[in-house]
Amino acid sequence: MTTTHPARSTPVTTIHTSTAPFSGPVRPGRSTLTPLDSSEIRLTGGYWAEKQRLNADVVLRHCEDWMERIGWTGNFDRAASHQAGWVHAGIEFVDSEVYKLLEGMAWELGRSHDADLSSRYDQLVYRVASAQDDDGYLHTSFGRPWQPARYSNLEWGHELYSFGHLLQAAVAAERTGIESALVDVARRLADHLWVEFGPDGRVAVCGHPEIEVALVEFGRALDEPRYVELARLFVERRGRGLLAPIEYGQEYFQDDVPVREAEVLRGHAVRALYLAAGALDVAVETGDDELADAVRRQWEATVARRTYVTGGMGSHHQDEAYGADFELPPDRAYSETCAGIASNMLSWRLLLQDGDPRYADLIERTLFNNVMASPREDGRAFFYTNTLHQRTDGVAPDEDELNARALSSLRAPWFEVSCCPTNVARTLASVESTFATKTPAGLQVHQYGEFDVDTTLSDGTPIALSVRSDYPYDGAVRITWRDDTRREVDLDLRIPSWAGSARIEAPGQTPSVRDGRSTTVRGRFAAGDVVTVDLPMQARWSLPDPRIDAVRGQVAVQRGPLVLALESTDLPDGDVNDVVVDTSVEPVTTERGATVEVSRLAAATADWPYGEPGDATGPLGAVTLVPYATWANRGPSTMRVWLPVARVEG
Ligand SMILES: [Zn+2]
Repeated sequence: MTTTHPARSTPVTTIHTSTAPFSGPVRPGRSTLTPLDSSEIRLTGGYWAEKQRLNADVVLRHCEDWMERIGWTGNFDRAASHQAGWVHAGIEFVDSEVYKLLEGMAWELGRSHDADLSSRYDQLVYRVASAQDDDGYLHTSFGRPWQPARYSNLEWGHELYSFGHLLQAAVAAERTGIESALVDVARRLADHLWVEFGPDGRVAVCGHPEIEVALVEFGRALDEPRYVELARLFVERRGRGLLAPIEYGQEYFQDDVPVREAEVLRGHAVRALYLAAGALDVAVETGDDELADAVRRQWEATVARRTYVTGGMGSHHQDEAYGADFELPPDRAYSETCAGIASNMLSWRLLLQDGDPRYADLIERTLFNNVMASPREDGRAFFYTNTLHQRTDGVAPDEDELNARALSSLRAPWFEVSCCPTNVARTLASVESTFATKTPAGLQVHQYGEFDVDTTLSDGTPIALSVRSDYPYDGAVRITWRDDTRREVDLDLRIPSWAGSARIEAPGQTPSVRDGRSTTVRGRFAAGDVVTVDLPMQARWSLPDPRIDAVRGQVAVQRGPLVLALESTDLPDGDVNDVVVDTSVEPVTTERGATVEVSRLAAATADWPYGEPGDATGPLGAVTLVPYATWANRGPSTMRVWLPVARVEG
């Protein structure tokens, strides 16, 4: 067979429109809160703008370069060539990383209209599109004579999981106004799935959920009810033992209990969370309140009993899974970055439905302390797992080598299973989409930082305001109206649960905090009016529920939304393992972290680690705690979030 390798210079028409409003990643058919269009909210500075710029300038390119170098993008060229017997690079589901990169590029492109990025994006889309089969199927690991047959390994092959990420990338293209060939590629693929797995197709599910949440959103974006119906079928089929038994049990892929009957999230954390997000989407689009209530119930139970103080989820390394209730060992925390991202996908969907600030609270906690712990400060290496206690100095991985999934004790540039870096990329590219929403009555601010909102309410009332703060380091938030609202509107402000209280000032009123969670400032605002929120940023102790045995007798320190950590880098010598903290002296808040008084334990019982506990000796005085998410940016260290409390004399 002759090679039909596509010429790389083949043009793909990409038209960037900048005038029409376009949506973000999630656009429910009905919801209590309406998400803002991607053109209606813009980061202007501070923490998040800096991270988003790092993503645009470094992370996207980093992912692109790695996947080019190790042949993952080249898989699409080889597939398009139709040459027999070509060797696939990487594990079965590396296509999905290219799709997540495309999604991140699309969100960035919708904002920046950068010519170089546009050209790179178009080339990549063209290469993907060239690999699509005539019937719409598109996968580089399955279906050729020398490869496993299509859908022959639904337990581990992740075919539909990969397709889901392609659909989400197409949603980003559609919603940002990029006229991308990817939308048509995704439509042909989704139509293929309808034939293959729809009402007249095979009764099966993918081992790794993701297709559900993607099909619903693609159906919303294209106004195609068949895609929502297919997602519904996948959700309903789950939990009925359709997947072959594996050593971890059926709960590993949530095939043990039907979604609407489950009480808590369990099994592989990323799978469980993607499935729950998709199930809620299905429930919303089909008016299935029982299913929606099941997802709410699972979120409640999981947050109450299976979540780390960082918002991280998953405490088993072997199967990347949730542990039992309160089984949250800090030194064995898996807390995969993707699970944090998936948790926020779920919380965001619940927030849109219910408007409950608790969902925004968890998004804040998880973003600052789990998701943002992943990228190194230079954007060129990532944590896959996010331990809360590093017992031995981390070993820096080779910057030029592929790293095993979770073995790195420090951030690694790329992994054999590299789901987390591309997930960080697409998350950062659209992170502001969860910061504010609107209702006919007004605007809701869920997250603080530096951003501008320019939107109109359903009756045309203009809402134009600027949010300014040095959040998450400073709790003073200043909101300035830039236009007259012409009528009375509500400005709802989340008061983070960690804050306890807040001081709010607004023109002509003193708003109070409702349920300790939010406040409403109501008024007809004029250009120049200012509303301020002051959140207390004093460092504070955080005590674990005694049922979390692994950290009983220990405390963590939080400062505003940030969980802090002790790193050996900040000790005069030695590691963090025998350090105890004196809780009779309050932590002292610093510019970015805190200091606490610590001592080292006596080593008198060194020959046997049981019996009478040793007294604290060797006071080290005040030591610095840093934001957990920044740990290991200064090189190898030992680190701990939970600090054992020193025994009190007498
Ligand atoms: Zn991951």
